[in-house]
Amino acid sequence: MLDLETLESESELNSNDWSSEQSQLLYRTDSWGAPYFFVNEAGHVAVHALDAKETTIDVVRVVDALRDRGIQFPLLIRFQDILRGQVKRLNDAFGSAIGDLQYSNDYRAVYPIKVNQLHEVVDELLDAGREYGMGLECGSKAELIAALPQVTGNMLLICNGVKDREMLSLMLAGQQLGQNNIPVVENYSEFTELKSLGVNSGFSPQMGVRVRLSTRGSGRWSASSGVNSKFGLSIAEVVRMVDELEAAGLSGKLVLLHCHIGSQIAEIQVLKQATLEVTRVYAELVKRGCDIKYLDLGGGLGVNYDSTEVGEEGSINYSLQEYANAIVGTVKEVCEAQGVACPCLVTESGRALTAHHSMLIVPVLGARYKDHPHAVVNVAEDAPEPLHALSRTLESLAQMHTPAELVEAYHVANERLEQASAMFSLGYLDMRMRGIADSLYWRICSRISNAFQQMSVVDIPEVAEIEALLTDQYLCDFSIFQSMLDHWAIGQPFPIMPLSRLDEEPTRRGIVVDLTCDSDGKVSHYVSSLDDNSYLPVHELTDHQIYYLGFFLMGAYEDIIGDAHNLFGRVSEAHVYADDSEPGNFWVEKIIPGTAVQDMLAQVQYFPNDLHRRMSELVRGKIREGVVRPTQGMDILDQYMACFAKNTYCDPQELTKEEPR
Ligand SMILES: *Cc1c(COP(=O)(O)O)cnc(C)c1O
Repeated sequence: MLDLETLESESELNSNDWSSEQSQLLYRTDSWGAPYFFVNEAGHVAVHALDAKETTIDVVRVVDALRDRGIQFPLLIRFQDILRGQVKRLNDAFGSAIGDLQYSNDYRAVYPIKVNQLHEVVDELLDAGREYGMGLECGSKAELIAALPQVTGNMLLICNGVKDREMLSLMLAGQQLGQNNIPVVENYSEFTELKSLGVNSGFSPQMGVRVRLSTRGSGRWSASSGVNSKFGLSIAEVVRMVDELEAAGLSGKLVLLHCHIGSQIAEIQVLKQATLEVTRVYAELVKRGCDIKYLDLGGGLGVNYDSTEVGEEGSINYSLQEYANAIVGTVKEVCEAQGVACPCLVTESGRALTAHHSMLIVPVLGARYKDHPHAVVNVAEDAPEPLHALSRTLESLAQMHTPAELVEAYHVANERLEQASAMFSLGYLDMRMRGIADSLYWRICSRISNAFQQMSVVDIPEVAEIEALLTDQYLCDFSIFQSMLDHWAIGQPFPIMPLSRLDEEPTRRGIVVDLTCDSDGKVSHYVSSLDDNSYLPVHELTDHQIYYLGFFLMGAYEDIIGDAHNLFGRVSEAHVYADDSEPGNFWVEKIIPGTAVQDMLAQVQYFPNDLHRRMSELVRGKIREGVVRPTQGMDILDQYMACFAKNTYCDPQELTKEEPR
């Protein structure tokens, strides 16, 4: 890997000397984006949408095309081909593991729809998975209702989670229609219910059982497993259930054994341990005469959101192929040792199938710079001494050649700024002067920081202190709570990078802040190859071009768990397909507008008619009192009413460019 320190200091000498490859290294695009995302020669983010063909799509062209069609931002783009690509990669990985290790049974993926229930996502996955016999997994009543009509042929429908009689009965109805539905017993009462439903309908249902393993997953979702997990039967309960089945002559009806040690398994060793344990249970049950066809290892196949910190949130220590090899190899070993037939392997990988396919495109609405490029730093003759002192310090920096001199200058600047602030509080300095003092201070800090970088100084505490001070806020047109809830809730990292200008050095240190009136509404750590992940390297904004940031790996969970903080609604969506016979190699299959203001309001029981009546009464009152002229009043009412159909986010085109000097 290239050394970024060298990259940085070299580019300092010549800021034009920055390449797309350097951006790719800086934002770690290879590590989280492969094989789909990369930076093209134009310095834009691009997508290899199809595995087989070398079709690439320039994301900036997609954004331009959608903007021309008047779509509102922020915008979520779904690359449907990536969904297909992931289905193929998952099945191929298990295919090769089975081939290489000479495993004597099959593999079936099932897609857990809780990860992303959007109809188009499920349809695309099922369509791509048809040739592999891919099935579905659901975990609630609504999910079951959505999934049931999609089950065709011999594909699996696995129902986990807490199930009431209605759900169990629906699963059985499906079985009677010939569907391969498997309700998985999560607690003992479900087993009792299933038996009685079977007796009532004169039909003995097939079922699965989830076993509580003693192996605990690692990381965030470890509570999904282990003896205190809220899911599954204990070993003792499984034994009791099998005894009952045997007594009723129904041992053949237990067809699936299930476990799930939690999402985003960080370490392959933990997976192997759990696989070993559950396969032991499988072998015993088979020996007792159960006809278990499927061994279901649940979800957990991880996504590499950020590979810099192994063991941290978002990193995993294995590849897709290693994951498949671990499962196939471990199951085979145990089955051979126990002398039982190998089961058909099932996994419920959701995150890995969906994370890559969608990216969020967010316009930057403005930047709050500390050292603003156009800041006024000229000090008038009659200005008070602290300003002159700051100005002298700034000028003297050019003659400084040692870190010690720079540190001293920084300390002096701090003292002088404090003096200026004290004078302002006491009325000896006006606001304009106070502002100039600030601007001088930031200019000094920024020059010192650059000088430190050129001297490659790192071991002085002031270096980090100044760098942290200089970070700019980039105000972005989105809500963390709607689009990236897992970042706020559990600190999960998501890769973020500019969509364009990637052949230009990003010289500013940015913090991404959102539109919500919540101090938590910001991104607190970033994926980059810098040592310090508390900021994102970004470009200085220009007047003539909207600066867009891309947020990646948004396709798993984030679409559905977002909330309505500040009444920001769902973002607009575009479904994009690759096609090398189309201009730009893509076409837009569908656009779903973001939630309108009136729909968000309806969720909290405000309705347009009523609001119109109230606003209208208010305006009419003001007209009667003579506060506004009648036409003016009616214009205000129209303006108010026009907002109901609007998108809940800001329109970057309508935002005046603020240019503080
Ligand atoms: C959530 C869940 C999954 C999906 O897990 P991923 O880590 O997203 O693959 C699979 N099975 C069960 C039982 C789950 O609860």
